[in-house]
Amino acid sequence: MENMSNNCIFCKIIKGESPATFVYRDEDFVVFHNINPKEPVHVLIVPVEHIESVNALKEENSAVISRMMLKAKEIAQTLGIKDSGYKLVINVGSGAGQVIFHLHIHLIGGWNKG
Ligand code: AMP
Ligand code: ZN
Repeated sequence: MENMSNNCIFCKIIKGESPATFVYRDEDFVVFHNINPKEPVHVLIVPVEHIESVNALKEENSAVISRMMLKAKEIAQTLGIKDSGYKLVINVGSGAGQVIFHLHIHLIGGWNKG
């Protein structure tokens, strides 16, 4: 309750209470397709832990953040866009377009696949 995770759509997806098309999941991360993709490939890399945004990050989150970046590279490879190029985007705050307040990286690419 204290961190609003009860009403969080990404927490619901993580708990299996809301559907998503998963690309990857382990005990620390889930990766699923964006429901409204803006680019040929558009997945979301989401830590299982409910952290609201980059602004809410603490020193103790540093391990999960660095692993999330390594995971991004791995997923880019899995999706076949590692060499054709991709972008990693994190919106921080509503002024920047953040609408889901559960930290996530947008992994987007697939423009020149192959
Ligand atoms: P942000 O603007 O960074 O908060 O991005 C949130 C993203 O989550 C948007 O691109 C949405 O299309 C996406 N999104 C919202 N609800 C879902 C959902 N249930 N499953 C997959 N992606 C979602
Ligand atoms: Zn959440």
